Amino acid sequence: MRTDWPPIVKDPREWTVAPNLVSYDAARAAFSWEAARAELDGLPGGALNIAHEAVGRHARGPLRDRTAILWLGKSGERREISYHELDDLSSRFANVLAGLGVERGERVFALAGRIPELYAAALGTLKYGAVFCPMFSAFGPEPIRQRLGIGDGRVLVTTGTLYERKVAGIRDSLPGLRHVLTVNGEGVDSPAGTLDFGQAMAAAPAGFETAHTRPEDMALLHFTSGTTGKPKGAVHVHEAVVAHHITGKLALDFHDGDVFWCTADPGWVTGTSYGIISPLTNGITMVVDEAEFDADRWYGIIQRERVTVWYTAPTAVRMLMKVGDEAVRDYDLSSVRFMSSVGEPLNPEAVDWGRRVLRLAIHDNWWQTETGGIMLANFRSMDIRPGSMGKPLPGVDAAIVARDPGAGVVEVTDADVEGELALRPGWPSMFRAYLGEDERYRKCFAGGWYLTGDLARRDAAGYYWFVGRGDDVIKSAGHLVGPFEVESSLMEHPAVAEAGVIGKPDPVAGEVVKAFVSLKSGFEATEPLRKELLGFARQRLGPAVAPREIDFLDTLPRTRSGKIMRRLLKARELGLPEGDTSTLETT
Ligand code: AMP
Repeated sequence: MRTDWPPIVKDPREWTVAPNLVSYDAARAAFSWEAARAELDGLPGGALNIAHEAVGRHARGPLRDRTAILWLGKSGERREISYHELDDLSSRFANVLAGLGVERGERVFALAGRIPELYAAALGTLKYGAVFCPMFSAFGPEPIRQRLGIGDGRVLVTTGTLYERKVAGIRDSLPGLRHVLTVNGEGVDSPAGTLDFGQAMAAAPAGFETAHTRPEDMALLHFTSGTTGKPKGAVHVHEAVVAHHITGKLALDFHDGDVFWCTADPGWVTGTSYGIISPLTNGITMVVDEAEFDADRWYGIIQRERVTVWYTAPTAVRMLMKVGDEAVRDYDLSSVRFMSSVGEPLNPEAVDWGRRVLRLAIHDNWWQTETGGIMLANFRSMDIRPGSMGKPLPGVDAAIVARDPGAGVVEVTDADVEGELALRPGWPSMFRAYLGEDERYRKCFAGGWYLTGDLARRDAAGYYWFVGRGDDVIKSAGHLVGPFEVESSLMEHPAVAEAGVIGKPDPVAGEVVKAFVSLKSGFEATEPLRKELLGFARQRLGPAVAPREIDFLDTLPRTRSGKIMRRLLKARELGLPEGDTSTLETT
C-alpha cells in the first residue's frame, strides 16, 4: 500500500462546531478514566449498569422526549422511539425475563435483523442484569448452534422466520436453551416451542428497577473467531460503558443534538458498542436502518434525516465507490460534520475518493472485539494521513512490540518498524475473559501488554499503520471469519477428505473466503460437486461465513506435524514466493 499520500490538513477556521478533542496532546495529558466515569450517573453503592446510563437516566431527565432511535424499516416505515419509550420497552423486556425465571448473569442471545425489538431486548437484558449476546442474522445453523452452546444461552430472541429456518432443527442439541421468544408478523402465530415476543411484552408489567450490577459483572458476550478451534466468546463487563461513552465523545465527536448513523449490525461488536450503547449514553439520536446496503437509500437517509455523524466500514465505502460518482450528485450530504470508518484497512484511494466525491474526510479508527471500544483513531481535529488508523485514544497506551524468545516481549521504539500492535491493559472495555477458556485468554498477554494479533507500525509522528493480521483469520466485508470453522464444516460433507481455507484479496470486500478441498477416494472433482459443496457450506454456515470459491486439489500442503499450511495455499493462490517450506511434509 502506498503510504505517501498527501495528508488531509484540518483548518480550525472551517469548524462551525468545535471538536470535543481540540488538541490531541493536551487531551491526552488531561485525561483520566475517573473523570470519564464521572460523566456517568452510576447507581447507589458503587453499582453501574449500562442500561441505566444508556436510557434510564435520560428517561427521567431533560432528554426524556428526545428521539433515541430513528428506525427506518425495510418497506419504508419510519418510527421514532424516544428515550422514555425505549426505557419503558426495556423495562417490559426485563419483566419478561423475570417472568421466565431467568437468573442474573444468564445469557440472552439475539438472532434478528435490525428491528426495534432487538434494541428493547438488548437494553432490557442489561437492565435485568443478564448478559446480552448478539448474533448475525446471516449466520447459518452451525455457527448459531456453536455460539448458543459455548455461551450456554438460556433465552433466544429471534423472529418466527429465522427460528423456523435456522434454529428449530438444532434446538434438540441445545438443552440449556429454555426459552425462545419470536417476533412475528400481524396475525401470524409464533412457531411451536416459542413464545410470541409481542404478547410477552404486552403481558409484562411496565416498570422495572434496574439491577444494581457491579462494574465487574458480565454484561455482554461477543463472539469472535481465531485461527484454530471454536469461536471465542469475549466477555465484557458493565464497566465497559465508561469507554463506550467517552470514546464516542472523543473519537466520533458526539455533540448534543447529533443525529448519528452507525451502519454496523449489532451482530458485530461495532453495532453494539456504537450502534446501541455509546450514542445512547451520550444522549443523541441514532438512526437504525433495517435494510441492507443500497447507495441511493443510504445517500437518501443522510439527506432526509440530516445525519451529522456517520460511522461505517471500508467495504461500504468501496461499495459506494463502485456504484460511481454520479450516484451522489443528486444528494445533499452537507449535514455530515464527521465521517468515520472501522473494521478493516481503509485504503488511501478510498479516503481520496471520500474527499473528492462525498466531500467528506473519512476518519479511520481501529479496535477489535476484545478491546470493546475504539483504541486508535483519526480525530476530527487531527490531520489525516490517508491509510493510517490514527493515534491512541487518551487513556490508552499502545505500542509496537516484538515477541522475543528470550525476553518474552520487547517494545519497538524506532519509528516505521513492523511489529505486533499491543495495548497496556486497564482500559474499562477490555475483555475480561474468553468464556470458559482461561488458557486462550492468558495467551493474549505477555510482558505487561495485551497482544492484539495485528501487525502494524508507528511513524515518527505517532500515527499507527495497519500491516496485516498476525494469524490466518480472514476479514471479509468487515466480518472476521475463522478458517477452522469453515474447514470443519466442509469436512462434514461425505466427499471431503480435507479442507484448507484462506482469505483471497478482493477489491471491494477486502478478502473473500476461499476453500481448497481434497476428495475422498471414489469422488470426482466435478463442477456439480463444487456447486454442491458451495451450497452445503452456505446452508450450514450462512452467507457471511461460507466460502465464495472452492478449488479441488489432490492433496493439501501440510506441515510434518499435520497442520494444513494455509500460508502456502495463499502464496500459491496469489503467485507469491512460498517462503519457508522446511516444515512442509513431503510424501
Ligand atoms: P473484530 O473483532 O471482528 O471487530 O475484528 C477486529 C480486527 O479487524 C482487528 O484485529 C483488525 O485485524 C481489523 N481491523 C479493525 N479496524 C481496522 C482498521 N481501521 N484498519 C485495519 N484493520 C482493522
